[in-house]
Amino acid sequence: MMKKIVDTARQAFATARSRSLDFRIKQLQAMKTMIIENDSEIRKALKADLHKSECAAYSYEMMGLLAEIELIIDNLHKWAAPQHVKKNLTTMGDDVYINYEPLGVVLVIGAWNYPLVVVLQPVVGAIAAGNAVVIKPSEVAEHTAKLLEKIVPRYLDKELYPVVNGGVPETTKLLAERFDHIFYTGNTSVGKIIMQAAAKFLTPVTLELGGKSPCYIDKDCDIDIASRRITWGKFVNCGQTCIAPDYVLCDKSIQGKLIEKIKETLKEFYGENPKESQDYERIINQRHFKRVLGLLQGEKVAIGGEHDESSCYIAPTVLIDVKPNAKVMQEEIFGPLLPIITVKDVDEAIQFINQKEKPLALYAFANDKKVFGYPCVQNLGPDC
Ligand code: NAD
Repeated sequence: MMKKIVDTARQAFATARSRSLDFRIKQLQAMKTMIIENDSEIRKALKADLHKSECAAYSYEMMGLLAEIELIIDNLHKWAAPQHVKKNLTTMGDDVYINYEPLGVVLVIGAWNYPLVVVLQPVVGAIAAGNAVVIKPSEVAEHTAKLLEKIVPRYLDKELYPVVNGGVPETTKLLAERFDHIFYTGNTSVGKIIMQAAAKFLTPVTLELGGKSPCYIDKDCDIDIASRRITWGKFVNCGQTCIAPDYVLCDKSIQGKLIEKIKETLKEFYGENPKESQDYERIINQRHFKRVLGLLQGEKVAIGGEHDESSCYIAPTVLIDVKPNAKVMQEEIFGPLLPIITVKDVDEAIQFINQKEKPLALYAFANDKKVFGYPCVQNLGPDC
């Protein structure tokens, strides 16, 4: 079955219809219409999968996608046009220019945490570049995956852009096929499986993985601002964001103030009881609920800690006096736990961070621009 789907996409690509810029733009416009016309179905699916509010569904999943489509439609003719190249000794007798070609059949494998945008954003790019795309949503966000399977063929070319649903066995079968590019979003262990499968055909890959993104808070900084931004970044989508601050490094003298401010901000964002807030999401499933709860064991809870397995609820939780070798510090948390580790200064923080795998993002809050380490930061202005 997987072979048939990929063969059909390849034959459709071979007709060259996906190469025409007008065709690509029409498909992108159809994708935009699909999102707009199915707005309420999309919001329902995201609510069912992750308890996303209507506002979060629009702000974090649909808005960026619609903006990306519009940006591409406005610029595609310019971006796809051949680029002039200066001649040199070896090319002086030739017509020299860069001509952008589609790669062929692209596989997009998505993750469940932002299950609409993480799947469709790479699809949008691949369509814009003239490719056929096999779309594999994450089975973990099952409502969104089913919705995509239902609506995508109603709007887009069915042969060029098939949606394949399924879990590990189906994805494994898909990966046995030859693709011209694989775009994978998800965890690092599966990233290695994807790369191995791609290596068989020397298929280039784009891997959007995770990591433990640190957050350093200097004792000389605006703690109100730092706490507010960290509280938003950590607890939005119940901590299930690839670039969420994973843990905090700070001086012991500001730990108490930080906790007090995070507590205040949590109340402002989610009310007295986040479980009753429309704006606080849930852990995606029981497996991840148990995994996140396991990281909490034996740790000192300063805020939160309440949980309810039946609804996959874990309250926004802050942990203090966390040891560097604690379980919660060994893997990406990907849930609403924020460990605070105290360090004596920025040098110790840098040393701590450098001992670990490279993170996806790093956040620093300080008044002293030297903390950021780069002279160019001086040019970003006083609010950077
Ligand atoms: P997931 O469980 O949905 O898996 C991702 C995809 O991999 C799914 O489509 C799934 O079917 C497939 N898959 C799973 N196991 C497989 C296997 N053994 N063989 C082949 N395919 C397999 O999502 P996840 O991995 O839990 O996603 C969370 C991770 O994704 C986090 O680490 C997060 O940081 C990262 N992420 C990164 C970005 C980014 O832009 N860098 C964005 C979102 C999420």
